[in-house]
Amino acid sequence: MALRLFNTLGREKQEFVPIGKKEVRMYSCGPTVYNYLHIGNLRSYVFADVLKRTLMYSGYKVKHIMNITDVGHLTSDADEGDDKMVKALKREGKPMTIAAMREIANTYYEKARIDMQKLEILSADEYPFATDHIKEMVAMIEVLLEKNAAYKTADSIYFDTKSIPDYGKLAKVKANDEHSRIGVNSEKKNLEDFALWKFADAGGIGFEASFGRGFPGWHIECSAMAEKYLGVPFDIHTGGIDHIPVHHNNEIAQTEAATGKLLANYWLHNAHLTIGEEKMAKSGEFLTLSVLEKEGISPLAYRYWLLTARYSTRMDYSLEAIKAAQTAYEKLVNFILSAQKTTFWAKLKPKRLPSGFYREKFLEAINDDLDTPKALALVWELLKDGSLPDTDKKATLLDFDKVLGLGLADIKKLEIPEEIQNLLDERKIARNSKDWVKSDELRKEIEKLGFAVKDSDSGSELRPL
Ligand code: AMP
Ligand code: ZN
Repeated sequence: MALRLFNTLGREKQEFVPIGKKEVRMYSCGPTVYNYLHIGNLRSYVFADVLKRTLMYSGYKVKHIMNITDVGHLTSDADEGDDKMVKALKREGKPMTIAAMREIANTYYEKARIDMQKLEILSADEYPFATDHIKEMVAMIEVLLEKNAAYKTADSIYFDTKSIPDYGKLAKVKANDEHSRIGVNSEKKNLEDFALWKFADAGGIGFEASFGRGFPGWHIECSAMAEKYLGVPFDIHTGGIDHIPVHHNNEIAQTEAATGKLLANYWLHNAHLTIGEEKMAKSGEFLTLSVLEKEGISPLAYRYWLLTARYSTRMDYSLEAIKAAQTAYEKLVNFILSAQKTTFWAKLKPKRLPSGFYREKFLEAINDDLDTPKALALVWELLKDGSLPDTDKKATLLDFDKVLGLGLADIKKLEIPEEIQNLLDERKIARNSKDWVKSDELRKEIEKLGFAVKDSDSGSELRPL
């Protein structure tokens, strides 16, 4: 069954045909590391992860690159506003130096990787930082200048969008779209032209380049690093839908002008996570994974919630809905735990790994542009199927989880150390006699030993921290 994906380039579902026979090369626009990731950003990476896992499930090896933007991303996509990293330096009272900028980048990069791990997002092959690739960006801008696809003004080097025949391949950019926010700049040749490089102020920080000290624009980073690590064209480029009109159109234009080649064959975009119907953004009201954890939501329950909608459908944040997803996710976990033992019936039957009917249906769902809601519905159908022994169901579920990524293979019965069990017993006695002070003290003690306690009507549960 062929994999079909909605390609923004062409605006239709297309059969996926990779360039190489066995390997798929994929690039995902990564985070701008000036702040924590919000759960909207994480939606983008969970989507890329499901796509990558789907390809791996079909037998492809995936070479995956995710860039780390640590310079040049302005507060607006359209060449205006402050550099987000410079904003972070000011916010955190750090000196205006390249070294301090890198320190901030490293901090938020580490935090981002932890969040991704908690969500079972498979590691990319490389996470190249933009500031480690200034040389490649400068070389690409030099080529663009040589080919007359770029020109110099007093404060920047601009890309000339009229230098290629069809600028705006992914979405036609109209005068009243993103670009009009750039405002009139008398030195620019065309309204859509965008900065490849911004010259540094005298005495200000910047990177050396043959055409003048300064900073790269945000878009050139992805074109230069994707070419370095994957070669062009490569197979799949992912990102959020906000990247379609400006960032991705510009990536395509730069690469086409410099190399004469298309950057990537398939362009996939996730819809947004909104909050109160507004796009969740680092500049506005945003939630992190640890805020959800403080609400008692486990990261994988959040992942489960994300899978209940297709990546291309907008989702509006709702704690109630995520809590309901957590209940469903816990049912899956409990099923895995209760199906540990081989039943008498299962011993008699030859093992069917995985059950053919369900596997076919599962492939049908995920190969149809990653229809994860359908795949989850199938999981529940499987669990309710009275004709299959639990061990078969478990094996099938674990097989599906290679794509869903809910960490089900790692679930084991929690071994409670004796010391903690004693504290728990003591706490139970305290709670029964309504000694809340003591009960709280014991909770803190248990937390110090690495376990969180969650109380409910049916008793207290432990969760490793
Ligand atoms: P940024 O750190 O803003 O460059 O964004 C990193 C990735 O997250 C990009 O692919 C964005 O398109 C994506 N993204 C940003 N905000 C959201 C959101 N609210 N929902 C889904 N994806 C988002
Ligand atoms: Zn990018």
